[in-house]
Amino acid sequence: MVMQRKRLTIAATALAVAATTGIGAAVATGTFFSKDRDTVRAVARALGDRHPKNVIFLLGDGMGTQEITAARYYQGARNKLNVDRMPLTGFDTTWSVKSGTSAPYLPDYDPDSASTGTMWATGQKTIDGRISQSPSSSQDVPGNNLQTVLEHAQRRGKKVGDVSTARITDATPAVLAAHISKRGCEGPANMAACATETKTAGGPGSIAEQQVDHKVDVLLGGGRDRYEQTITGGPDTGKTVVQSAQDKGFEYVTDADGLSAVNADKPVLGLFSSGHMALEWSGPASSTGKGNEPVACTEGQRPADQPSLAAMTTKAIDLLENRRGFFLQVESASIDKQDHATNACGQLGETVAFDNAIGVALDYQRRHPDTLVITTADHSHTSEIVSEDASGSGLPTGYSTNLLTKDGQTLSLTYGTAGYGGDGQPPVTPAPSQQHTGGAVPVWGIGPRSLDVLGTNDHTDLFETLGG
Ligand code: MG
Ligand code: ZN
Repeated sequence: MVMQRKRLTIAATALAVAATTGIGAAVATGTFFSKDRDTVRAVARALGDRHPKNVIFLLGDGMGTQEITAARYYQGARNKLNVDRMPLTGFDTTWSVKSGTSAPYLPDYDPDSASTGTMWATGQKTIDGRISQSPSSSQDVPGNNLQTVLEHAQRRGKKVGDVSTARITDATPAVLAAHISKRGCEGPANMAACATETKTAGGPGSIAEQQVDHKVDVLLGGGRDRYEQTITGGPDTGKTVVQSAQDKGFEYVTDADGLSAVNADKPVLGLFSSGHMALEWSGPASSTGKGNEPVACTEGQRPADQPSLAAMTTKAIDLLENRRGFFLQVESASIDKQDHATNACGQLGETVAFDNAIGVALDYQRRHPDTLVITTADHSHTSEIVSEDASGSGLPTGYSTNLLTKDGQTLSLTYGTAGYGGDGQPPVTPAPSQQHTGGAVPVWGIGPRSLDVLGTNDHTDLFETLGG
């Protein structure tokens, strides 16, 4: 409620200012701001319209300010990214909560993708590892199911889509159309830790089963292995999740050509790899101390049968567009996964691929200004841009990689949030999985209601912005 009051105050003030200063005429002529005409128009539209027909939510997993900046610098420091076309920006805090017997639950400053996803999907804080359920006394005690923004959109007659480069049952895509106590309960054979939530036990079943049962109109990503597991309870017993989806009317495709050929007015399930989808770029492994001689990343590593995130976004919009509007979430998942792995080129390639998908969404928004586009990250991460000239005791203490940027300069990235080797000992090698970090994340917006992103807010506030 506090947030809503603040937003209304901003909107009312802005409209009052517009009325008394002739800002409308200034906006029309593009003379009021030292900004280009497109930016001025976008801001004016955001001031006056809070009712988007379509919503596209783009999420870079683990894409904090260092990650997006590293991708920017690698591509050429003076080059613009697509995300720079989004005129309204702010910051969101991302803290989750600890288990407890009752509210208020104590803050956990370093969240995971399940708790952060639950924030924008439901507007509520929960514990790490939990998918669109409330907090509870422990990980093992399921919380209450929380209504998601996707469910709200479906109730309003909108089509809905969920796209990711991860397994489509991974935490970020899961939060929209599943409610379960532990993120690992992805397929029917992964339910040991969620025994009271299986279909046999009268529950809603695994994340994959719930995504199908929710009749999400477009589901595109990796994770065939989860969907090929056999259902062991309820009316679909004995079928794989893929078979149950096909029986419920889904068109099923498994490669880029199959996706291109889809032209059906029925739900589409596209699973393009067994696990997470392949990375776009590769490069040198990280090392302790000074790191490698600077080299360029090797681009174009994704197999052609796996569609790019931009291609999946284009197709999803094509399939979802309809008279009543749509809600679409698009995730670039492996920015986070390669940040964990101290794989600088892997991380940068996924960030650039994400920016390409942002470009697709913004091109659509330009042709359809009744569309809200929001871009953010779910939490910050490890990688840091550090000095290329460090030596001796100034060397970074973590795992570093030196890259030759498109400006011909050295970009030194270091990862140092895990790998302690003990008192007086060097870090352990190879690098263990790095930690998420707790810094606030950037949020960008364009279109009706994008005014909401201004200032510093919390990820739970996105729920209302996205239509919750
Ligand atoms: Mg994710
Ligand atoms: Zn992570």
